[in-house]
Parts: sequence; structure tokens; C-alpha cells
Amino acid sequence: MKIRTRFAPSPTGLLHIGGARTALFNYLFARHHGGEFLIRIEDTDKARSTEEAVQVILDGLDWLGLNPDAPPVFQSKQEARHVEVARALLAQGRAYECYCTPDELREMRETAQAEGRPPRYDGRWRDRDPASAPAGVKPAIRLKAPREGETVLEDLVQGTVTVANSELDDMIILRSDGTPTYLHAVVVDDHDMAISHVIRGDDHLTNTFRQIQIYNAMGWALPKFAHIPLIHGADGAKLSKRHGAVSILEFREQGFLPEALCNYLLRLGWGHGDAEFLSRDEQVKLFDLDGVGRAASRMDYAKLTHLNGMWLRGADDARLVADVMARLPVQCGVSVSDGLADKLLRLMPGLKERAKTLLELTASSAFLARSIPLEFEPKAQALLTVEARAMLGRLAPKLAATDFSVAELDAAMRSFAEAEGLKLGQVAQPLRAALTGSTMSPGIDATLSALGAAESLARIQAVI
Ligand code: GLU
Repeated sequence: MKIRTRFAPSPTGLLHIGGARTALFNYLFARHHGGEFLIRIEDTDKARSTEEAVQVILDGLDWLGLNPDAPPVFQSKQEARHVEVARALLAQGRAYECYCTPDELREMRETAQAEGRPPRYDGRWRDRDPASAPAGVKPAIRLKAPREGETVLEDLVQGTVTVANSELDDMIILRSDGTPTYLHAVVVDDHDMAISHVIRGDDHLTNTFRQIQIYNAMGWALPKFAHIPLIHGADGAKLSKRHGAVSILEFREQGFLPEALCNYLLRLGWGHGDAEFLSRDEQVKLFDLDGVGRAASRMDYAKLTHLNGMWLRGADDARLVADVMARLPVQCGVSVSDGLADKLLRLMPGLKERAKTLLELTASSAFLARSIPLEFEPKAQALLTVEARAMLGRLAPKLAATDFSVAELDAAMRSFAEAEGLKLGQVAQPLRAALTGSTMSPGIDATLSALGAAESLARIQAVI
């Protein structure tokens, strides 16, 4: 059997991390088994679906590197087919026309509530002759669901879950206005797309029993189902806006790398021994549904940030430079010149060692783009005492005499410190303050070299 999975978001909102994790699991499962990963946009709720939301979802998936093997399928375009299947069920006597008016249905609900029963359709048109239909009323089509026995789901994550058929009423598959219902559309689409594994959030578990009844009525083979637990906030409550960034693209804004976010989301609710840092290739190699836990997981920003730092350190320097260049004007209000990329590239190995997010990386890179007079952080200002400035005055000509390579700068600094009877740090810290306006930067020799002779000496001159 060809393995085929799908991610089926409804474009009524943003792509949040729960959806992103569902997409990731579908993607990895398909890749692991040499199958295909597809996307279906479930846009049948025309009032609430927007094109903008579709774009945001597709952009989010693209950013995460979860690209499908075929262009996305739009559920709304399959409507004729949903209707066709509903009519086929009707023709086979597996479904029937229901002429209940909204008033009758409301009454049914209210009576059930008054008697403390769950609101359920009572099946009054199930065996009734359609010839007795009231004139001028358009019928809905309902599935003739089995009344005896039970529906059993062998879920690949939840295990065996059983529901008595008496608990499930005859659901509408085609509304009286001729539009298919969501539960019905999903079954038809999954069948037509030859989906072998339906991997989705466990909030869909109860839908699955009804969907199984449609598969059975059509005589279609069931896909395998895997319902994965939801992600909760650190406080254990269902994840919501108040837990901070919930849209995937907000994580991009906040300076997370897509690889780090995927790595984190994978580890949240899926385990493979102690392995924490996993490349995409390793993820594909190791991922399978038997490693998915049944308990809801908790979003932990500290862990995500830690993992992001690890991914930053391993990231390609040129890519980080491009990202920082794009962020600098917005985040730090500095303009970026042609020469800046080159300076950033030279210093990137040292800069990325010290940052956990792209925001931090950008902030610590900004000094390269600034011009004199620099602003000084209070701690940096405190280092620039009268003696320190005099010391920098004696150091400047020694630095100027080098070729500004890291090796010569390092040698010059060392011999200067020795001659002055100072520790290297006593020279480096005021110098760092003068060059960067802060107390933290990559190695001082690399910082000098990246800034270049003219700019470095000008910045020293400005504080002396
Ligand atoms: N469209 C549904 C949602 O966004 C998913 C349905 C499914 O995966 O079957 O929650």
C-alpha cells in the first residue's frame, strides 16, 4: 500500500503550533515510509474562510519546510463529488431524505435536554415513505447509521476506542440547501485522495466514529487513524493567545529558526531515547507513530529558546547574515551599507556563539552598522575611565602598525598588555566598550579585524 498522508487545515484562522506539529508528523511519517504528503485546504465554511488565511497557512508551511508533493487540494472545489456520493448513498438505501423543519429539530433538542438526554435526531424520517413529504420543503440527506452493535476504532496512538452505535444518531451528509456537511466532505476527499493514514489532533476523535460509518456505508476501505494529543500552555491549559506567540509566523518574527521550531515540536510529544537535537534527515529516519505519546504536551519557551541557540550555532553564516541584514533597519533603526555584509560574515562565527535567537543576534550585530558617535551602555561607559582612555591612546598606534589581521592584532595586544603590566582583559574590555558601546562582543581581535583599521581607530579616537 502506498503511504499517503495529508494535512487538512481550515483557513478560518492562523496556522498555530498545534497545526504545525500535525503537519510535521504527517510530513515525517510520509517521508519515513517513502510515501507522499499532501495538503488539503478545508474551505467549505465559506463565511469564515479567507484567501488571506490560506496564504498565511501556506506561507507558514513553506517557512517550516513542510512542502507537499502535489499542489494543495481545495475542498470547496470538490463539492459536486461530495453531492454525488451523498446521492449514491441515497440511491443505495444507505441514506434517506429528512423533511424535518428547523422548528421540529429545535423541539427535538429541547425535549432531549429537558429529559437530560444528549440532543440527538430521533430518526423520524428513517423509514418513512418520502411520498408523505410536506410540499415545498427541501429535504436534507441523512446517513442511515447502524443502530445496534458498536463502532470500533483501532487508533495508532490512542489504541482501541469503542462507541456504542446507539450513541450516534443519523447525521446529515447533505444539507437541505444542497451543500455537503464537513464530516462527509472529509471522508469523500480522503477516499478520493487515497489517503492511507489520517493523522490529526485528538479533538477530532469523536468525528472519526461518524466518518467510519460513511466509509462503511460506501463499502470503502478505512484508512488508518492516528489522533495526536493537543499542545497545552506551560500552565496546562489549552493553548491560546494569552500564552504568547501562537501563530507560526510570529515565531519567525521572534527570531526562531524553522528547523529549531520543527525540532522542538517533534520532541514535544514524540520521543526517541534521549536524542534532543535532530536534523531533518535524522527525523525522517527515526520518526514513526509508535513514538507518539498519549498525554497532552506542554509548550516550554525556555526549551525552545535553548534548542534555537543550538540550531543558530550550526546555521550557515551567509544565511544568518542575510537574515540579520533584513532585520537590522527594522529592529535597530540602522541603515545597512554594502560593506556591512562582509563585516558581518567575518564576525558571524563569533556572534552566533553568543545568541539564542535572531533578535539577539541582530542586536549584537548592530554595532557594526552604527556610526560615531556611538551610544554607550552604562556598563560600557563605566569602563571608559580616564586611565582606560589614556591606555587606549597608547594602544592605538600599536594596533595601527599591524595589517589588521586577527593574528597580528592578537600579537600586538598581547605584547602591549605585557609591556603595560596589564592582564589581557584589562586591555580588551575598555577597547570593546570603545568599539561596540557594549561589554559583549566576539573576540576582541576578530571584532577589530571585522570593523577594519579606519573604523576601529576612529572609534578609539572618539573616546580618547
Ligand atoms: N480541517 C480540520 C481542522 O482544521 C482538520 C480535519 C482533519 O484533519 O480531518 O481542524
